[in-house]
Amino acid sequence: MKERKAVTWFTELGLSSVEFYRLVTGEDPPKSGLQILSLGAGLQSSVIGLMACHGEIEKPHAAIFADPQWESAATYEWLTVLDEILLKHGIPLIVVSIGSLPGALVSSARAERERRAQEGRGEDVTTERVWAAPPPLYTVSLRERGCKWPKQIEGQLTLLDVPAADAADDSGDPNGKIRKPMMIDVLGTLGRNCTRTYKIEPIQRAALQLMGFKRASPRRPVTQLLGITTDEAGRMRKPKSKAWINSYPLIDKGMSRGDCAAWLDHHGYKPIPKSSCLGCPFKSNRSLAEDRREDPEAFEATCQVDDEIREGIAGTKAQGLYLHRSARPLRDVYLDDNNESLFDIDCQGVCGV
Ligand code: SF4
Repeated sequence: MKERKAVTWFTELGLSSVEFYRLVTGEDPPKSGLQILSLGAGLQSSVIGLMACHGEIEKPHAAIFADPQWESAATYEWLTVLDEILLKHGIPLIVVSIGSLPGALVSSARAERERRAQEGRGEDVTTERVWAAPPPLYTVSLRERGCKWPKQIEGQLTLLDVPAADAADDSGDPNGKIRKPMMIDVLGTLGRNCTRTYKIEPIQRAALQLMGFKRASPRRPVTQLLGITTDEAGRMRKPKSKAWINSYPLIDKGMSRGDCAAWLDHHGYKPIPKSSCLGCPFKSNRSLAEDRREDPEAFEATCQVDDEIREGIAGTKAQGLYLHRSARPLRDVYLDDNNESLFDIDCQGVCGV
């Protein structure tokens, strides 16, 4: 898979975060009272950074972006623009990454296939498991297979069940080229580990590193500015530990997503591309169709990740993993209808929605 990565001054210079902070601000990072912008690089968190540059909110000490290496080219381009703007206003943009999320899924799936092949041939299993922190991948027919581990979301997401009677009439493709939806007995998802592993924890570790500590402590709490707007206030969360304080500047200002777009326009900025992993299972069909139109090569690479995970990844007993909620191969899904993004279910504002 072609490598995708954020390229910013921080990544280019090869300095430690503390050295970079000193270079940009001329000071040492604070040992307490650190305020960071938890940057998802989508509309809301970017607007927080820009409002800080315009003096409309207090400047955070730094912006931190955790790169799952699966963002769109447009988001990576926007990051380089935002990097320059923040830099001019003395806000260092620090990029951290624990590696490629799609790369980890593929490695895990390949190792799992090899392990099963070895088992099938009656050989000793010598292939190591490769653990991945998966997104909430969709899986089907779990009850029949007796798999207890994946979280059942029946009821919560009943729209995902495709009743057999409707399936034949409602495929939606005027040309009749697509496959009919599968008949699904029970549809579920794997637990969602990606956000914590690829976003939340790397950002928190980077904040602690800036201060020079390994562990968070309520004696020196870190404030995280999170990009959540009034129309999605349900995503606000109280941190589990008193070592972290969540701050919601856009909520404090009574701003909705539409207000953020209007703010950008008023200040002469172009619209900010939507940010989230290219293969995020929460994406709407519209968003996936946009990805396919804007960057067919990247969309095909995502389809290949979807193909690779089909038979499972490490730790999954379930067969049939899918990136798309229809539980069909992504490249076969008819994307020109619309459905809602599922980010509203549980996103803490760090996935750039
Ligand atoms: S955008 Fe989606 S796949 Fe990426 S880290 Fe967030 S929830 Fe996971």
